[in-house]
Amino acid sequence: MADNNVKKGGISVETEHIFPIIKKWLYSEKEIFLREIVSNASDAITKLKRLESLGKYEGSEAPYRIDVSFNKTEKTLTVKDNGIGMSEEEVEKYLCSMALSGAMDFIREYEGENEKDSGGIIGHFGLGFYSAFMVADTVEVLTKSYLGAPAVRFLCAEDGSYTIEAAEEKERGTAVVMHINEDGEEFLTESKLSEVLRRYCAFMPVEIYLTDEEAEQEEPKEGEEPKVPTPINDTHPLWQKNASDCTEEEYKEFYQKAFADYKEPLFHMHLNADYPLNFKGILYFPKIQENYENLEGKIQLYYNQVFVADNIKEVIPEYLLMLRGVLDCPELPLNVSRSYLQNSAYVSKVSQYIVKKVADKLTAMFRNEREKYEGLWEDIRTFVEYGAICDRKFYDRVKEAFLFVKTGGEKITLADALEAAGESKTVYYTSSPEQQSQYIAMYEAKNIPVIVMSKMLDDRFMQVLEQNEGGIKFVRVDAGTDALREGEAEEEKNEELIALFEAFSTEKQKLTVRTERLADATVPAILTVSEEARRMEEMMRMYAPDMPPMPTEAALILNTASPIIRRLAEKGYGDKADAVAKQVYSLALLSQRPLSAEEMREFLQDGYRLLTELV
Ligand code: ADP
Repeated sequence: MADNNVKKGGISVETEHIFPIIKKWLYSEKEIFLREIVSNASDAITKLKRLESLGKYEGSEAPYRIDVSFNKTEKTLTVKDNGIGMSEEEVEKYLCSMALSGAMDFIREYEGENEKDSGGIIGHFGLGFYSAFMVADTVEVLTKSYLGAPAVRFLCAEDGSYTIEAAEEKERGTAVVMHINEDGEEFLTESKLSEVLRRYCAFMPVEIYLTDEEAEQEEPKEGEEPKVPTPINDTHPLWQKNASDCTEEEYKEFYQKAFADYKEPLFHMHLNADYPLNFKGILYFPKIQENYENLEGKIQLYYNQVFVADNIKEVIPEYLLMLRGVLDCPELPLNVSRSYLQNSAYVSKVSQYIVKKVADKLTAMFRNEREKYEGLWEDIRTFVEYGAICDRKFYDRVKEAFLFVKTGGEKITLADALEAAGESKTVYYTSSPEQQSQYIAMYEAKNIPVIVMSKMLDDRFMQVLEQNEGGIKFVRVDAGTDALREGEAEEEKNEELIALFEAFSTEKQKLTVRTERLADATVPAILTVSEEARRMEEMMRMYAPDMPPMPTEAALILNTASPIIRRLAEKGYGDKADAVAKQVYSLALLSQRPLSAEEMREFLQDGYRLLTELV
């Protein structure tokens, strides 16, 4: 072709820095370029399909497809589609002006933001055609419009200079050939390309094939069946179907494929929001691990079946990130900044919609499938409690379905617990059924329910319940004796008896001693630490773990119903009084909390001494 038929151009002064910026800024997530180029190919086919459905294009014989191929020797990576294609004018308009100004806008948007903050989001949301320069030093576009205009070759170098010339190509569509530079060499292997395509393009609406051009040219070995090419993607992901057309099996299969998790999810929700929200998705409740660190689920955000990012906190409330799922949000513009997401009314509506759907699902299960719901409770309680702690709206919606597990295993609702509590509105709980078993037995003997609140979030959850439900109080079983006393009759104060036990008060464990008549006569004494004091101490320990522990102020209640205490109270019990009292105190301590090393040694020595006297 004669030289005067070749159009030459150059990126204007204003834009000349664009390439170095693209390289520097997007360095950490280079692979995004592939998503951008393949999405353009997919868009080009979608546009043509649309024209076909409108009767403006007669349709094509060959099935629509995208071919991603690489050549390690030539160092090229090609993305080829049989979509709408471009004429020369369109190449100039779309690739030279519009794409470039789009990329410029994108970069300007982030110029002010500091790199650390914007890094994640820039990586997730692409900047189109020009992102190819992250891995290529020359990009060649060979394209022929569906309208039959002559084919065009557009060649753009990394310094911004380009040429446009006519080409011989006969087939409709576009091939983008990237001449890969040193930074991009990893993208010349099948494993890397397949990994990236599976991440970003697993559900794109057009079939995508990956080939190694050099392997393709080799003659198949004798006796070897020629490989049947299979697309790397699923063009009809489950979320695009109507829920009524999907089977349980399909939901499970999809879950395993999308999250590579072979544990079955607990249950799922198929979302389908109409105009104006207009998004689809499936959310799964995975089996949640005990440990908070492992709770992170994965919610994948798609834009018309193109993967955008995982776990975008701006779109999905943080506590829902424990779930797994896919959301396809075609209304969300792709080139958006974090501040856009934070301030967008659309985004907050999507978020509210999801919260409502999740809450509705939980309450519907609670109402209609109570047995199943109770069976799942231990798996979902962390999620429910966390949601209730984080979001008052979620709390209000799900409140009726909060469950509490009694020491015997029976599950009761908040309403049940309050009914049992009666006027006092006091709900008794244990944070450790093993450590606090003596107390629990005393409550159970009086038919007072005790719930087990031993999980990580339970303390915070109880505080939130107290804040939101006026009057309700959660009191640990060892916090007092209000429910355990028998009769209010004022006992005569026995100063001597009290002094006997006050002797055990130390700097670290301050004691106030008093006598009461408890229902269970077998227990000579119990220790109580008030709910407020204990919570205060726990909070201090959490916020200032290095501070020396504050002295614990406990009350030692001597049970005047116990024969041991009655004997001790008799004047002149004798010289064994100290030893018996010490043992009574140690046993009370032991049933309330783990002993320190020193306390344990003393307790054992005392025990041995008593035994020696008995033999
Ligand atoms: P965006 O896709 O966000 O519009 P791009 O920079 O990726 O921005 O592309 C700019 C334009 O170039 C597209 O809008 C499209 O008109 C055109 N284009 C890019 N790739 C192709 C392709 N494979 N086939 C047809 N047109 C394309």
